[in-house]
Amino acid sequence: MTQLVWFRNDLRTADNAALTAACKQGGPVRACFIVTPGQWREHDWSPARLRFVVDHLNSLSRFLAELGIATDILDADRFSDSLPLLRDLCRQHGVRQIHFNEEFGVNERRRDRQVRDGLADDGIKVNKYRDQTVAPAGSILTQQDEPYSVFTPFSRSWRQWADEHQPGLYPVPTPVADAVRPVELATTLAGYDEAPEPLVPVGEKAAQQRLEHFLDEDAADYKKLRDFPAVKATSRLSPYLANGVLSGRQCWLAVNQRMQAGGSSEGLFTWLTEIAWRDFYINILYHYPRVSMHRAFKPETEALEWNQPGENFEAWKAGQTGVPIVDAAMRQLNQTGWMHNRLRMVTAMFLTKNLFVDWRLGEAYFMSKLVDGFLASNNGGWQWSASTGTDAAPYFRVFNPATQSERFDPKGEFIRRYVPELESLDAKRIHQPWTGGVIPKGYPRPIVDLKDSRKAAIEKFQALKKD
Ligand code: FAD
Repeated sequence: MTQLVWFRNDLRTADNAALTAACKQGGPVRACFIVTPGQWREHDWSPARLRFVVDHLNSLSRFLAELGIATDILDADRFSDSLPLLRDLCRQHGVRQIHFNEEFGVNERRRDRQVRDGLADDGIKVNKYRDQTVAPAGSILTQQDEPYSVFTPFSRSWRQWADEHQPGLYPVPTPVADAVRPVELATTLAGYDEAPEPLVPVGEKAAQQRLEHFLDEDAADYKKLRDFPAVKATSRLSPYLANGVLSGRQCWLAVNQRMQAGGSSEGLFTWLTEIAWRDFYINILYHYPRVSMHRAFKPETEALEWNQPGENFEAWKAGQTGVPIVDAAMRQLNQTGWMHNRLRMVTAMFLTKNLFVDWRLGEAYFMSKLVDGFLASNNGGWQWSASTGTDAAPYFRVFNPATQSERFDPKGEFIRRYVPELESLDAKRIHQPWTGGVIPKGYPRPIVDLKDSRKAAIEKFQALKKD
């Protein structure tokens, strides 16, 4: 009786609930992946992410082939094409059971329901697993059995759950048959060639090595240095985590082992809190599907009348706002497909508060560029910055980008890396080149007054409260 594992957002052999369960059944195992370029375009997938997924799928297929598991790569356009393709595949190979790990976006859930019902009609058993988070999504609830909408109490319960349950890992399965020939997904897929240089090396082994290296070498300084974009102090594991090449449980366990061995607990503790943020936003997506339908978490903020995006939005996208830290950050995003966390907050607040442009446009633009584009975290981060989300930044606490720049890029090193027009300015003026002299040639004047625009945004939120 053949078992089929349907890979989607979990491109790994280690610690994969669906793969482990399929292999345990004892019969032949096959794998499949469905390529859906139309759906990916609709979900604003970036070339960087597309390339990451193609490269990792090919690496996964090679790994699986060594385990005696052949992979079928099925060509579709949209999620709604999945059922007929899976049906044919099951018929062709006599598949009696299909296994997959759940995803929580609205379209993904709709697709999975359709597949579950359709295949059940054919007598095929559908097994799904809640594998994306450290504690299964939906299992961390308040004492009143409600979902958490504030991070700190969620993270406390999350840590408690992990301490009590001590989640283990599913090992890489042993071979189920002799090795087979791996398949390759063509790298001619539209968008592949437009991707920037890969941020991180390909493969789950590389991901695990990076995790180990980061925890052993860099985590001790993480708390101290993680907010400084000129320093490589964060793990850069996000592309692996966003596409399931690495699991949250692997991160939790690796940290926990080090903490138990007496490792530098402050840095490790802080880093683990970031993994908790990831799980928090996945839980928000799980409990509140509206956030994946372009809706604000706080319904009252739907009434905000955002400015027309126009030229200001274009300047923001291009890194030509005249505010150096914002421009450096946007250029980092455009050139590398990744942006430092502190700068994601700074640029998102600048767009939504100073330019008062709708967060949904920023969310989509980030997605269209990021190699680690991940609906739950991207939406969570944007709604946090726009003060429309869970546990969001209070609307009156608007970051001043120039002050953030002075604080987190004090020598202007990061700015100089991405905004060479400002190279000649000293560490004092580089944050606000419009003060105290002539703006260097080729660099724009700020497109907005930081103080006035901040005040206007606060007033719009205040008016909302009165209404
Ligand atoms: P590290 O600091 O090493 O953190 C380790 C891991 O924890 C990250 O890889 C990530 O998986 C998780 N993590 C860290 N911070 C957060 C956070 N605030 N929320 C959720 N998870 C977190 N993260 C994404 O993975 N994909 C996105 O599309 C995304 N969009 C964002 C948009 C905005 C506006 C903001 C403010 C944040 C966004 N983040 C997103 C969160 C965060 O910026 C990135 O996860 C982080 O910068 C990735 O770098 P790193 O792997 O070096 O992080």
